[in-house]
Amino acid sequence: ASFGYVEVDAREKESLVRGVFERVAPSYDVMNDLMSAGVHRLWKDYFVSKVGVFAGMTHLDVAGGTGDIAFRVLRALQRVEREAELDGQVLDANTRGKVVVSDINPAMLREGMKRATQRGLNQEQLTWLEGNAEKLPVEDESVDVYTIAFGLRNVTDTRAAIADAYRCLKPGGKYMILEFSHVENEILKQVYDFYSFNVIPKLGELVARDRGSYQYLVESIRKFPPQEKLKSMMRDVGFKHVSHENLTGGMVAVHTGYKT
Ligand code: SAM
Repeated sequence: ASFGYVEVDAREKESLVRGVFERVAPSYDVMNDLMSAGVHRLWKDYFVSKVGVFAGMTHLDVAGGTGDIAFRVLRALQRVEREAELDGQVLDANTRGKVVVSDINPAMLREGMKRATQRGLNQEQLTWLEGNAEKLPVEDESVDVYTIAFGLRNVTDTRAAIADAYRCLKPGGKYMILEFSHVENEILKQVYDFYSFNVIPKLGELVARDRGSYQYLVESIRKFPPQEKLKSMMRDVGFKHVSHENLTGGMVAVHTGYKT
């Protein structure tokens, strides 16, 4: 299916997105590496380095799909807690931190669970949760850090998802978005547009045998609110100290806000 530039209504978008991720789940890693020349790994490493992991924290990674962000957070958490124990802190099952991976799509979650096992991760502190980012089955004010990486763009009601993140966070909690954004330099923008509109759908066709899904990807990036607009949406639902940082010239941006 090619979605062209046709505007689709809200529920239709949800089922289109579901179809896209059901189809791409198995080739997800290969395609990410190919399309970004491996750079998505660096973006994710950088993003997680800004989480501020601490012993005992509750971390929620939304649209967490195959676990790319959650596994990094989990490893950082295990390292920090090991160090805390070496310093004499006593931690048990109740006081150790936990990482929750949430996604609307069970196919992506299954792929993630499989990968966690293949990688031999210690999964005691990891849980999986099926849910829509617009209204997650998560208690109010129960989360220290909420991350959403390359996910917000796919949610039908962006504002509802931002508001729900605010609801889930404890006072003092931190909200972090990693998402494709808007390239500011005119020359870079032209190169990037050419690549997005010509190369990516072609790669999707050749490698994943699915041009439509990758066409969707490019269009969803183009329609996503630019940096300043996204910050104002975050402020509108109550986030404070809102800021953004561009990576790779704005191809991707990290947005951060706090619930005070
Ligand atoms: N966070 C992972 C990463 O960085 O590699 C996966 C990103 S993947 C591009 C987007 C994910 O968003 C998919 O797993 C999809 O199922 C999920 N998604 C789409 N709509 C969603 C929604 N309304 N609520 C929660 N997750 C959603």
